[in-house]
This record gives sequence, structure tokens and C-alpha cells, in this order.
Amino acid sequence: MASTLNKFDSCRICGSTELHDVLSLGDMPPVNSFLRHESDATVEKKFPLAIVFCPRCTHVQTTHLLDPKDIFEDYIYFSSMSSTVVRHGQTLAARYAKELGLGAGDLVGELASNDGCILKAFRETCRVYGVEPAKNIAQVANDEGIPTLPEFFNSTTARKVRDAQGPARLIIARNVVAHVPEVVDFIRGVAHWLADDGIFHVEVPYLVEMVDKVEFDTIYHEHFSYYSVTALDRLFREAGLALWDVEEIGLHGGSLIARGKKAGTEPTANVTRYLEKERAEGYLTIAPLQRFAERTRALQTRIPEFLLSLKKGGKTIAGYGAAAKGVVLANYCNVDKDLLTFVADRSPYKQGKWMPGVHLPVVSPDHIFEAKPDYLFVLAWNFFDEIREQLARYETELAGKFVLPVPDPRVVATAPATAASPETKK
Ligand SMILES: [Zn+2]
Repeated sequence: MASTLNKFDSCRICGSTELHDVLSLGDMPPVNSFLRHESDATVEKKFPLAIVFCPRCTHVQTTHLLDPKDIFEDYIYFSSMSSTVVRHGQTLAARYAKELGLGAGDLVGELASNDGCILKAFRETCRVYGVEPAKNIAQVANDEGIPTLPEFFNSTTARKVRDAQGPARLIIARNVVAHVPEVVDFIRGVAHWLADDGIFHVEVPYLVEMVDKVEFDTIYHEHFSYYSVTALDRLFREAGLALWDVEEIGLHGGSLIARGKKAGTEPTANVTRYLEKERAEGYLTIAPLQRFAERTRALQTRIPEFLLSLKKGGKTIAGYGAAAKGVVLANYCNVDKDLLTFVADRSPYKQGKWMPGVHLPVVSPDHIFEAKPDYLFVLAWNFFDEIREQLARYETELAGKFVLPVPDPRVVATAPATAASPETKK
């Protein structure tokens, strides 16, 4: 459980001390601090959660830092539990086998490799090596035959890894660059480990998507940085790497794939296009972020009001997905036991516990078919398609309905096969 808190007062990329306030989500419990007993609520800790904008390099970042050692060494997110992630690994392996012509002697590295779910897709083709600071999860990967170093990655670790394993032709960093406090040193480590013709593949939630779709629940303590292409370009240069290519993917509600190569590599036309687009949309200034903050504050009342209106007439609502964003959303919008009866989640590590802050009980998804709630409020909305597929019986047999929270709370129209419901309006 997190215990250490530091307020930091300089930009993580450029070091500037002139940082402008964007949005505060108030005091928030760490998103992984699930309560083992309901009575633990009395000693629960909460920490300020807010983001600021650096006018010098445009980087958007949190104001407070929980010690990553407290957060990540006993992390409870297992990639392999998501079939979306498994499929994504297969896509990446096929893509890079072709693009880099990977062979048996080549090395593919992954940073924050979790349980080795992505690297597994590569091991038929080449050598793989993971770096994962959560010791319990690194152990799972090693047991499954994915060699994994149970440490934080930085420029020191990078030297050790390159000396022992050799340079990597591909280094993958999915949803970790936003979670690293000393991110310039982290990317320096990548620059060191990467082979001269290697590709650094980064996946990170895209700031512009977060703003456009009011995805305020992307903000949490462990998520220190919110990247635009402009900020990534600056970060890579600061660390001796070049931002070479960029594209968008749908994963996690709108993510970027940013690809780096050794310093001096000319960027593709995509990079130039994104940089120009962000400039045109005002992302060199704080203005779009201020609009985002206003829309977020409006959702803080609109979401609980919407759920309350659904409950009228004795209807019941349960939550689905006790993921990080669910914890933030439920806490910021006061979605507690008055609105939801329970939260279902596939992770056995969360089942039987209570969600931080709002203290909703976390149960197995099987419980949905016993309790038969009229609505399922999808907190893990970034996995909605997958969740809907897994819970197909909920719609077809129980005539249940899904509710999505952002950018505006709404009941999802049932599939055309079943009769349209009068409640499906917004
Ligand atoms: Zn800066």
C-alpha cells in the first residue's frame, strides 16, 4: 500500500519550475489499494490528485508523486487476463517479424513486461527479455519461461541488461512511459539498450484523446505524464533518441504508438502531421486543457445524477471493472453503495476485497447472473467491446443494459436482434 508522497515542483521533461494548474480531482486513494476488510476503511489514506501544464515544453503531468516502490512492487494487474492484450501481442509479433526481419539470434526486449503476455508472442521467432519491477508478476513470467529481470528500468539497469543480453532490435514499452517519474533517464536507458537499427515501440494514452473524450479517469497517481506528440518529441530528443513515427490505436480509449530510433533519424510525415495538428488545435498552450477541466467538473455531478435517475422505480445497478480508471471515476463522482450494489471484476486478486475510497465490494462476474442487476455501469469502458462479448448472456438472457460514463453518461442501445427498449434514449 502506498505510503510516501512528494510534491514535485519542476517539469519531468524540461525541468522548468513554472507549472500552471489544469485540474484537481481532490484527495484520492491509490488506485490499487483495495481493502482486504471493510473495516480497513478507517485507516485508508488519500492523496491529492491534480495535473499541471508546463508552458515551456507543453508537458502535462501530475503534481504529486507516490513512491513507485510502494505502488509497483506488488502490482495486481495481470495482462494475460485480458484477451485484448493477448491478441495485441500476436499483432505486434507478426508486424515486427516482417518489418525488422526478426530471426533466432535477435533480441526483443520489453519494459514493464508484466506477466510476459506480449513477449510470449515473440518467443517462437527470436530471443526475448523482460524487465518488470513488480516482483510477484516478474516471478509469474519467469515461471512461464519468459526471462524477466525484477527491477525498475533506468539508465543503470539498461547498461546491465545490454552487457548481459546484447543490444535489442526491438524494445516495447506499453503503458509504462506515463508511469515513470524520471522519464528522461528511462528513455536514455532505451537509447543505450537499442541496437543501431533498432525500433523503440511505445504505447501511451494520447492526451488529445483524453481531452476530446473527457477521459478524466485516465488521471491517477501512478500515471505521472499525459503525452501529446509534441511532448514526446521533446522527451525523446532530451534523452538522445529521435521520435521517428507515430500512429493512433483504439486500445485504452485512444492511445498513441510512438516509435523511436537512434538520434539523427529523420521523422516520417506522420510525425510532422501530428506536430502541425497539435499546434493548430492550441496544444502549445493551456487552452484545450482548461476546456477539458470544465467538462470534467460538469461530469462530476452529471454522472451520479444519471445513475440516480436510472434507479427510480426500484431498478438496480452494478458496476463492471475495478480497474484504475474505475476507482478514479467512482471516487471523483461519488459513485458508492447508494448507487451501485457491487462491482464485478475478472481479477481474482480483487475479488473479495473492497474498492478504495468508495468501498464497493468487488465480486466475480458470475455474480451478475445471480444478482441480475437491471443495469451494468461499465467503469472499465476502455474494454467495453470485450466485456460485452464476455457478458453476452447478460443482454440476451437477462435483458440487462450497459451504461457508459464518458464523454457523457448514456445507456447503450441493445443489439438490434432484441426489441428496442423505451429507456434507451441517450
Ligand atoms: Zn517542461
